[in-house]
Amino acid sequence: MNSVPPAAPALPAASPRSADLIARSRAVVWHPCTQMKDHEWLPLVPVAKAEGVWLETPDGHRIIDAVSSWWTNIFGHRHPVIVEHLKRQLDTLDHVLLAGFTHEPVVSLSEKLVALTPEGLSRCFYADNGSSAVEVALKMSVHYWRNVGRPEKTRFAALSNGYHGETLGALGVGDTGLYRDTYKSLLLDPVVLPSPDCSLMQVGGRGAGESWEDYSRRRFADARQILEAHADTLAAVIVEPLVQCAGGMRMYHAIWLKLLREACDALGIHLIADEIATGFGRTGQLFACDHANITPDFICLSKGITGGTLPLAVTLTNERVYEAFYDDYATGKAFLHSHSYTGNPLACAAALGTLAVFDQCNWMAIVRGLGQLMWTQTAALRQHPQVAEVRQQGMILAVELAQSPHQRAPYPAADRRGLRAYQHALTRGVLLRPLGNTLYLMPPYVITAAELGRVCDVLIEAVDVATRP
Ligand code: PMP
Repeated sequence: MNSVPPAAPALPAASPRSADLIARSRAVVWHPCTQMKDHEWLPLVPVAKAEGVWLETPDGHRIIDAVSSWWTNIFGHRHPVIVEHLKRQLDTLDHVLLAGFTHEPVVSLSEKLVALTPEGLSRCFYADNGSSAVEVALKMSVHYWRNVGRPEKTRFAALSNGYHGETLGALGVGDTGLYRDTYKSLLLDPVVLPSPDCSLMQVGGRGAGESWEDYSRRRFADARQILEAHADTLAAVIVEPLVQCAGGMRMYHAIWLKLLREACDALGIHLIADEIATGFGRTGQLFACDHANITPDFICLSKGITGGTLPLAVTLTNERVYEAFYDDYATGKAFLHSHSYTGNPLACAAALGTLAVFDQCNWMAIVRGLGQLMWTQTAALRQHPQVAEVRQQGMILAVELAQSPHQRAPYPAADRRGLRAYQHALTRGVLLRPLGNTLYLMPPYVITAAELGRVCDVLIEAVDVATRP
């Protein structure tokens, strides 16, 4: 198996100081989502500082963070408003347990989240990473049904090609084989609904002349049948609204969410919206659910919530769910779930800083404008013989490479075409981190038109490099 793409130097040779840091890192750090052996020939990239969209190595090489550091860094690195909120918080309260105690940052943040999220979500439960927020929603849903006398409702429905995190519960409702298959014996067994993924690369999927809306409607008819068949035992259905991000930035039409909300209401199934990646403006509305004008029973938020500064996650739910847990202690209905750093004041302050940045101007108009620019600046890719599709939702633009676009034949995963694109882009000062054959842009919203132009040029080059025989 060819697991070693041609070794392009990722960046100019590292100085002795950087080389030493890289060696020390390889000696003691097990890096995430990485075959560590790759780093025998693929240099780690040391980062000494960051500002706005720019990362800087100890040797002074500057790199545009075109993926917002795993989609977290929505307002660029070290945004002054967020930094100021954090500094002020450090002077007063670092951390306190949230059981039996409370503090201003967590209360203010909860008030603001209740006001900003879809109407009807009124209670905030905190965790410190996205996977945990998903597991909070899963547990709350099952526990709700138990508390209201429906203990048989313990299963979940989830989308094919969905992704909800890496911890066992979250992985259990995911369907990306690369992450899931090895651990199958440890995982939940969800009811899988066919993804409404409108990509032309989906085998047996949307026809070239079929609109996203028509296809999403058609796909929903199949999902509805499955939901009906399992409604008695289903606690909840969990989805990534509009974009299946880790599954390759696969996208679908908002009508599917509207139809899902109606079906969940009719069948008595909770709807969990995992907006960990799509939340806080990424799709051109503050939340992806806003495109469909729906309120889920649970919404999971993380990543952008602190502008990419500190780990924080929150699961919001409605009064109906909250009240099913609210009873005398002896009834055993309480939600006895906790994480040590639940509602950490510093992370909440960073989130308040992030929301203060949102208040400064009409960011959704900016996101939509930058989205337009991304679309026009990547026009050349839509004619590229090895590009099956360029698709976009707000400030997510994805380019699907294919061996034979017309036959919907992808490049073999072992080719590691995306890695070639990553290597090339780094030499040109841009951080792309493709998902297999999908190259994508998901830059911070503070990127300038000139910086975005450069990113798009490098993306076009990277596609050429990655698709060479
Ligand atoms: N859900 C979605 C939709 C995600 O994109 C991710 C992270 N990529 C997660 C859940 C998991 O979040 P975390 O990595 O913070 O656990």
